[in-house]
Amino acid sequence: MFFAKSNSDMEKYVQQKTLGGTIEFSGIALHTGKEASVRILPAEPDTGYRFRLSDVPGNPEVEASVHNIRDTLLATSLGFNGVSIKTVEHLLSGLAGSGVDNSLIEVSGQEIPILDGSAAPFVRGVEMVGLVEQGVPKKMMRILGEIEARENGSRAVLEPADRFSVSFTIDFAHPLIGRQEMEFDYSPEAFGREIAFARTFGFLKDVQGMVDKGLALGGSLENAVVLGDDRILNPGGLRSPDEFVRHKILDSIGDLSLLGIPIIGAYKGFKAGHRINRLLMQEVLARPEMWDLVLVADHDGQDRYREIDPVDSHPLSITL
Ligand SMILES: [Zn+2]
Repeated sequence: MFFAKSNSDMEKYVQQKTLGGTIEFSGIALHTGKEASVRILPAEPDTGYRFRLSDVPGNPEVEASVHNIRDTLLATSLGFNGVSIKTVEHLLSGLAGSGVDNSLIEVSGQEIPILDGSAAPFVRGVEMVGLVEQGVPKKMMRILGEIEARENGSRAVLEPADRFSVSFTIDFAHPLIGRQEMEFDYSPEAFGREIAFARTFGFLKDVQGMVDKGLALGGSLENAVVLGDDRILNPGGLRSPDEFVRHKILDSIGDLSLLGIPIIGAYKGFKAGHRINRLLMQEVLARPEMWDLVLVADHDGQDRYREIDPVDSHPLSITL
């Protein structure tokens, strides 16, 4: 709903985008170990991301929303009305990172195929079908003050900034990871170039424990970086020396998309994961005085927004 503004006013703002066609993938699901498939379709303005379970009677739908997070153990899983979809974060990261605002995602197998463990296949798929502008301005969430979540030595923060950026620090007591830090200034192009390729990773010593819990049943060297005590087991090695911290940035962009609206602000993660990102998003929703909703126009080449207009409605009147 955009109130008393003329069409020409609306056209100056950055518009919502959807896919120019349908993308399909199938393959093994990381956690169930079963075959799964996904069709990623265009959707109407203001849809956001919606999942539809195409192999469940009645084809129930689950909105990609922080309210629908059901589990954050090793992956982010969504659920609603008794149905669930596992491991949504790499797909959501690929869509959000590529600048897709609206998509309907049909899933068979109740988990997103893990593919190569990164978001690169999704980004390539989006590039193949292209994006189309939908003639409706894109609302964004502008962070006005610091919002923080902490737990057990992990921390995630959102701070005011004139564009979206993600910085991340990891510190693993493993000789091949150690401490890695990266600051990423978001743009769809930079996401495709610097973040999308980074694969999920795990430790060989943890594999049996995960399998005993019914997790990672589909995990293999085809879809994850696996670390032994002192070496990478994957024959091709790493895609970059800091692939690990890049993957954490990928995961965080996927998790943050569950706010349902792009952010103008700086996210900072310290040893953070899906669980702390969920706490951070709950904190965002609990503190509406720390953000507002805006329409944006005119970025410069650095994706800084020069012109920002508050949406002239009460922020809580949209569903988040
Ligand atoms: Zn991940």
